Amino acid sequence: MKSYTKELWFNTMFKREFINISEEVEAALKESGIQEGLCLVNSMHITSSVFINDDEAGLLHDFDNWLEKLAPHEPVSSYRHNYSEKNADAHLKRQIMGREVVIAVTEGKLHLGTWEQVFYGEFDGKRRKRVLIKIIGE
Ligand code: ZN
Repeated sequence: MKSYTKELWFNTMFKREFINISEEVEAALKESGIQEGLCLVNSMHITSSVFINDDEAGLLHDFDNWLEKLAPHEPVSSYRHNYSEKNADAHLKRQIMGREVVIAVTEGKLHLGTWEQVFYGEFDGKRRKRVLIKIIGE
């Protein structure tokens, strides 16, 4: 069995941002040379997510509004976690959007559904963060 590991780094311009990382994940798979197996992609931080959904601007806007309704950033004093930090909302948003995805690898390609795209979801950005890609198989 072969295995391949790669990290992607991000430093977003905004506090909250969604970045389509499908091409980076596909490139890592090509570098791995693996034809059949599994590809794990996970955020290495507790205030950002990796998830799969549609790359449609309206939907991404809807996700952001929905998350802000569920866990509004303000008032920061409404969260116990914010006694020292100001990012409690980012922890909650990450929990809803998830930590990782696992994608089947078939014939050297990510075996995604028709409209499925891999996203990095940042909820406490403007600083360096990373994503882990781990691919195993033959
Ligand atoms: Zn925190």
